[in-house]
Amino acid sequence: QTFEELGLDPRLVRALIKKGIEKPTPIQRVAIPFILEGKDVVARAKTGSGKTQPYLLPLLQKLFSDSGLKNKLAPAAFVLVPTRELCQQVYSRVSSLIELCRVQLKVVQLSSSMTPSDLRAALAGPPDILVSTPACIPKCLSAGILKTTAINDSLDILVLDEADLLLSYGADVEKLKKLILHNPYILTLPEVGDIKDEIVPKNVQQFSISCSA
Ligand code: AMP
Repeated sequence: QTFEELGLDPRLVRALIKKGIEKPTPIQRVAIPFILEGKDVVARAKTGSGKTQPYLLPLLQKLFSDSGLKNKLAPAAFVLVPTRELCQQVYSRVSSLIELCRVQLKVVQLSSSMTPSDLRAALAGPPDILVSTPACIPKCLSAGILKTTAINDSLDILVLDEADLLLSYGADVEKLKKLILHNPYILTLPEVGDIKDEIVPKNVQQFSISCSA
């Protein structure tokens, strides 16, 4: 099966080919169609098995079709990652896909070394996609740069990448639960270890996808 057959926009398919990515990995084959349908998904697979593209590609595709209907109060997509390294990695992958697709989307990464005025400048607009570690969020909220209500109620998509690590690095479980309740979400987990029940409220339905390859 090709990326095109999974329902991906031809611009994204061409961008992937330019990056030398031609065939979906097993987790990509299974997860991408569900995420494109707007289902809440918990994707579990080995580190390095290609868990980033399944959320990045549908996320970008959703924003392609939503441009013009943009929410002006908060980012449309919020990707929370556990470490600075991952933040940088995800940011560069999104930026390069946006550039290759030649679409007008703004992605911003927050870093804990940013001052309140850096943060304010980064979030002015606001960006379409915000990539951050949990450490930066309280700073933005307390400086009034991000509004909890805007984030809670109006995301097109919320991604908790490596959700087990997010929690072990001190992300606030109650805040994550609230975000999950209010927004379409994608959660990625490693192959082993299960903390999903901790952050997915019991009454919330989701598709759980596991791939061992
Ligand atoms: P990830 O697990 O998403 O961090 O991806 C791990 C590495 O595999 C990254 O360098 C990706 O660029 C690469 N990658 C992801 N998906 C594919 C694919 N379908 N084919 C070849 N390489 C891929």
